[in-house]
Amino acid sequence: MLSSCERQFESVFQKVPMVTSFAPGRIEFIGNHTDYNGGEVLGAAIDRRIAAALGPRRDHTARFVSDEGGDPVVVDLRNPVRRSGRESWVNYPLGVYLELVGAGMDPGTGFDFGCVSDLPSGAGLSSSAALELATARGLCVLNDFTLADEALVLLCQRAENNFVGVPCGLLDQGVSCFGQADHLVHIDCATVRFDRVAVPGQIHFWIFNSNQKHSLLDSLYAERHRECREALEVIRRQYPDVEHLAQVSPAVFRELRVDAGFTETHYARARHVTEENARVRAVVDLLSKGDLAAVGDLLLASHNSSSVFFQNSTPALDTLVQLLSGEKAVYGARLTGGGFGGAAMAMTSPDFGPDDAERIVSLYAEQMPHAPLPTVFHARTGDGAHAARRST
Ligand code: ADP
Ligand code: MG
Repeated sequence: MLSSCERQFESVFQKVPMVTSFAPGRIEFIGNHTDYNGGEVLGAAIDRRIAAALGPRRDHTARFVSDEGGDPVVVDLRNPVRRSGRESWVNYPLGVYLELVGAGMDPGTGFDFGCVSDLPSGAGLSSSAALELATARGLCVLNDFTLADEALVLLCQRAENNFVGVPCGLLDQGVSCFGQADHLVHIDCATVRFDRVAVPGQIHFWIFNSNQKHSLLDSLYAERHRECREALEVIRRQYPDVEHLAQVSPAVFRELRVDAGFTETHYARARHVTEENARVRAVVDLLSKGDLAAVGDLLLASHNSSSVFFQNSTPALDTLVQLLSGEKAVYGARLTGGGFGGAAMAMTSPDFGPDDAERIVSLYAEQMPHAPLPTVFHARTGDGAHAARRST
């Protein structure tokens, strides 16, 4: 893929690139809506990625080209304005460039940038973070900037939050940066700590994108954020030292004296967050013991909690998870990502194959005759973002 990226760069810009980089997409393994509640989350970098090629310029122009088509987008870096419509993808690499400048790393001159991808875009696998990380790593190598991985993650998250305008948590960029084949990335969002956890044996991921997205997605996310904040406020009346909802253990939560301000909705949301956080920790422990069957059970428990208590599942996702859970080669399945539509994922042994995936889709079509057919995607774990100067 790097070579097709170099070819694209050479044919569009009529010169060879100086730096190539790549960054993977990711799967939310477990830890649903724990991130903004100061909790923990586990993600897997996958073996699908965005590759980028970069070259320096002597002026103050940046040119961007992508395999998604369209003419190169030319940006005057002395007056970088947000792009819209067909050019809006440029906001990701441009946002990263602007955050680098904001952090005191101004290359002083422009650059050319080309990217190609084998990661589906908008399918919940975080092609956006992959694009940011491939840009950030590439620009750092191109300009000899040294930036710690943690700082790079936060910088890319800021680019997406500030310039693109998407309020994403730490998971996407953290996993794309820290990912490693045969490992998961464990993130403590309260302390911004990233660890790698080895995955025993050969695991495979199968993603079933329901191709449904709730029309009120943004306001539903905002509602869940607010409900979690309100639940925390009520808990803090009894436990003033608690800073984050996910910090409350399930045991403490069960002992809570519920007052008038704590509605059934608050109870359900808080119960999900506190128990989900405990599940993330339990999964880390079970992985170290190699107990994939027990990990699979927790994936299913996570899904049921999202569905019943956090209420961010859909009939489509519930159906997919229920069908997948009945399969012998499936360790566990759950919705992955923000929910309210989007995708379900299954962790499987190598015995689960394309025929099985097709069978699941047929069964789904029988049960959900009016729903769009899911798109299926297979992935393994893969390495995190990397950039290098070309040796020539
Ligand atoms: P996700 O991150 O789940 O894939 P997002 O909506 O957050 O979905 O990000 C998708 C956006 O990322 C696309 O709309 C596009 O702007 C950008 N993007 C992804 N892949 C590419 C690519 N190959 N070329 C250009 N832009 C891309
Ligand atoms: Mg994204």
